[in-house]
Amino acid sequence: RVQPAWAEVEEYLSAAVVHPGPELDRALRSAVDAGMPAIEVAPNAGKLLKLLVQLSGARRVLEIGTLAGFSTIWMAQGLPDDGQLITCEYLPLHAEVARKNVDAAGVGHKVDIRVGPALDTLPLLAGGESFDLVFIDADKQNDSNYLDWAIRLGRPGTVIILDNVIWEGAILDNSMDEVNAPGITAALDMLGQDPRLDATAIQTVGTKGWDGFAIARVV
Ligand code: SAM
Repeated sequence: RVQPAWAEVEEYLSAAVVHPGPELDRALRSAVDAGMPAIEVAPNAGKLLKLLVQLSGARRVLEIGTLAGFSTIWMAQGLPDDGQLITCEYLPLHAEVARKNVDAAGVGHKVDIRVGPALDTLPLLAGGESFDLVFIDADKQNDSNYLDWAIRLGRPGTVIILDNVIWEGAILDNSMDEVNAPGITAALDMLGQDPRLDATAIQTVGTKGWDGFAIARVV
């Protein structure tokens, strides 16, 4: 059987349906120029994040894993003008590139970047206003810790999106990736078992290969 043209189909869908703006293309180019890895979400997934922000009526969004701010820009574009997005990034270089990109995209006034390991910066957000939507896309070993923080910083009804839950099928074969796969499966177990969460998980294919995401609602 001929391998379906996942990547070409996704590019067609992006051009026909998704319509990423030039600010998003510029953000992608800036990441390449800075020598950063191309591990951002695909444009159709970025648009899904934006739509989820809008459909949930979110005013406060938390992101864990900023990179060059590609998903940050998409989600910030879905927020009202007085909405707020706090994004946690480990590497100062990534945070610096992301800052320039969110400012150049005209959404900088909504975006606050917290630099450092997320497990150090997330506790500093406790006691503040709760988040309406949380996007988790950082080091996969900590996925369950991030889910726990998303619940603690959320409220009943908060939407949680966890990226990269298939990892080319490594979730069923930990020997393929002994670092990330166990973190992902631990998070999937939590999504299925934790009484504070109600969730589903979806496989995807496209320019980013075979992967997927989970979406949950805090009960
Ligand atoms: N969400 C971004 C997008 O779609 O445009 C992509 C994020 S990329 C997959 C993961 C990011 O998480 C990287 O920039 C990495 O430096 C950051 N990261 C890794 N470990 C982290 C940690 N412990 N705390 C915060 N950020 C971390």
